[in-house]
Amino acid sequence: MGTEPGMKWRRRMFSDSASGLGIGNELAYPPRHRTTCRVHHVIRLKPKHESHLQLLKSLKNKHGEQMEFWRKPTIPLQDVDVRLSPEVIPGILPLLNESGLLYDVMTDDLESLVSAERPKRSVADVVDVTESPDNFSLSSYHTYDEISDWMDGLIDKCKPDCDVFSIGDTYEGRPMKIIRIGKESVRRPVIWIDAGIHAREWIAPATAIYIISKLIDPDKSDRIARVLASRYTWYILPVANPDGYDYTWTMDRLWRKTRSHHKYSPCRGVDGNRNWDFHWGGEGTSDLPCNEDYRGDEPFSEPETRNIARLVFDEFLLTLQGRLAVYLSLHSYGQYWLTPWGYTYNVPPDYPDLVHLGTKATEAMRRTHGSRYQVGSSARILYLAAGGSDDWAKGVLGVKYSYTVELCDTGRHGFILPPHYITTTGDEMLEATRSLSLSVLRERRRAARKRRRYT
Ligand SMILES: [Zn+2]
Repeated sequence: MGTEPGMKWRRRMFSDSASGLGIGNELAYPPRHRTTCRVHHVIRLKPKHESHLQLLKSLKNKHGEQMEFWRKPTIPLQDVDVRLSPEVIPGILPLLNESGLLYDVMTDDLESLVSAERPKRSVADVVDVTESPDNFSLSSYHTYDEISDWMDGLIDKCKPDCDVFSIGDTYEGRPMKIIRIGKESVRRPVIWIDAGIHAREWIAPATAIYIISKLIDPDKSDRIARVLASRYTWYILPVANPDGYDYTWTMDRLWRKTRSHHKYSPCRGVDGNRNWDFHWGGEGTSDLPCNEDYRGDEPFSEPETRNIARLVFDEFLLTLQGRLAVYLSLHSYGQYWLTPWGYTYNVPPDYPDLVHLGTKATEAMRRTHGSRYQVGSSARILYLAAGGSDDWAKGVLGVKYSYTVELCDTGRHGFILPPHYITTTGDEMLEATRSLSLSVLRERRRAARKRRRYT
């Protein structure tokens, strides 16, 4: 964001947070109280055999929220990432040493990483982006209000070939803003991108925002961007869980779920990526509201998942069947390009095609800034997780190329990825998306030629 004098800045954003005003003219984010992470550790474990996995699971049962898996134990030799609260560190680390379970300390001060992620902003930095979307920085993280205002400001810039609208309200009443880029036409295939259904994965919304800005305003010399904007209609939902995302800014940076209340539990929220109505309630989900992977008390219990499903059904399935060519859901972290299925180790019949285009997309990423991504089905290369959105898109909507992408990094910073990664991750994902959409265009052309030949 710019700091030129005379730029408008907005008090509304801080109207409920006078206590957040720092010394002088500095505003310290987040403005309200939040859970401190001071001296929380994140460690990476290397379980060698089943007994190590059992030990981790029993420690988790014993310590509950004070020991949180960022990467769950699955099979021996696969890394496990765990956040440990300060209270449990003295008890757990000696036990790990005794059992021969090796680990690396990824960070021994999570709070410092959180602070580095969002440097204090001066009052002059807070600009009214609705008046000039160009003032919106693509290389820093933004609050939901800022993102929402920025999207509203895009309407004038990209009309008539785009639109920004709300697909419905969240549990706490925030409008879920989506952007359509490209003409609406029944003949045009659609690429769908959503991000941030898991609140703490900030790089996902930041990457979606980066892609939006590059599609709307491509470099003059960028012929491919123009082709993609003219051949497809894009729907991009940069923050699929605005309540949770706002909560990560104001109260708890590591919040993952939605923010709904439950009848019989004081714990809040549902895992938005276990809530979809396709093999809902299966492996890798929990029926306990306090757990991170709580699936909800029924499929689509959450307004956020329901709003997306309703839009997709109304727009693309019932009225415009077959238009949804690509479904992409952005998450972090781990650098995985994941295909269905998540609910079973089996794979869909067209799995080779999904892997083929996924591999090409990740090669494009590697050529851009060197990041390496692993490609494969969620269950096979990560873990079983039923009720995910990519499974639903494929299993219910029949979208052939349905993927979940776990963006940067591989765990050094995990969820707390410093902002200087945003543009490189954005570049890489943009190249991956281009590769994928060009491949799909070619495939559709080949299929059309074949149809013409036989009719
Ligand atoms: Zn996620």
